[in-house]
Amino acid sequence: MPVTGSPPAGGGRLHERDGRATLVARSPAPMLRASGHGPITRIRLARTVAGRALYSVCAYLVDGVLIDNGPPATARELVAWLRPRPPRLVLNTHYHEDHTGGNGALQRAFGVRVLAPAASIARLAAFYRLPFYRALVWGQPTDVAVEPLPPVVDTGRYRFEVVPTPGHAPDHVCLFEPEQGWVFSGDLFIHERVTYTREVEDVWQHIASLRRVLALQPRLLLCSHAGVVHDPQGAIRSKIAFWEGLAERARTLYEQGVPLGAIRSRLLGREGWMTYISRGDFSKKNMIRALIKRQAMVDRR
Ligand SMILES: [Zn+2]
Repeated sequence: MPVTGSPPAGGGRLHERDGRATLVARSPAPMLRASGHGPITRIRLARTVAGRALYSVCAYLVDGVLIDNGPPATARELVAWLRPRPPRLVLNTHYHEDHTGGNGALQRAFGVRVLAPAASIARLAAFYRLPFYRALVWGQPTDVAVEPLPPVVDTGRYRFEVVPTPGHAPDHVCLFEPEQGWVFSGDLFIHERVTYTREVEDVWQHIASLRRVLALQPRLLLCSHAGVVHDPQGAIRSKIAFWEGLAERARTLYEQGVPLGAIRSRLLGREGWMTYISRGDFSKKNMIRALIKRQAMVDRR
């Protein structure tokens, strides 16, 4: 669907790339870029430093329904961009601030209903103080009252089944449209070879959730970070295989008495800048530890 409407505040330009209309908004720090994929519009949002995106996240607009809405840092730009096409409904896949940061601004601007997984509601109503690195990248969310997602959301044209997919976060859900084969997957996928995790994430539960979505045989995956994935079943299989393979190799080294840090170094190399900025909250070592932990538990049974 071509992107139409006036450019957002701060200036913008419309250009064609790969046959798709793309609107690029150039406002001082936040960035918003929208592109059409059939009836779905992907809205990529990021905070930028010296013109470069720090870390971007996608929201999706389909049949007047906005799925996820980026971080607090880009909420103003998102509202400005939506002015000519106000959403009828806002859905959240999980409570994380880079998916729900626009909730309050959207409610105020459009009086729109916001629906989130039941387990997200208390967290969103009293959002905890973010660690420094997350506040820096995304901005601190404000507290917002939202309603629980029903098992199925009917948009008029489409029907979204709410599929519980915990692991990345305990409240995480995907939205599956069975007729179209679409799965709006929040942070379930992200990348085939994710090597970092936060300590609170449950990688094995995440793998079980990937299998649950794979069993739905999706034909198009709409990821909050990877964007539009055209071979979702292949991509999900490859992600599961990568993590299970890594678990197997990590366990072998662990059984040989190799320390955790050395296993991380051998299998995944050094930690990256995110580990230092997050003070270890987000690390490769967490991933190795999580993979070994469950494998060891399974072995003891
Ligand atoms: Zn997340």
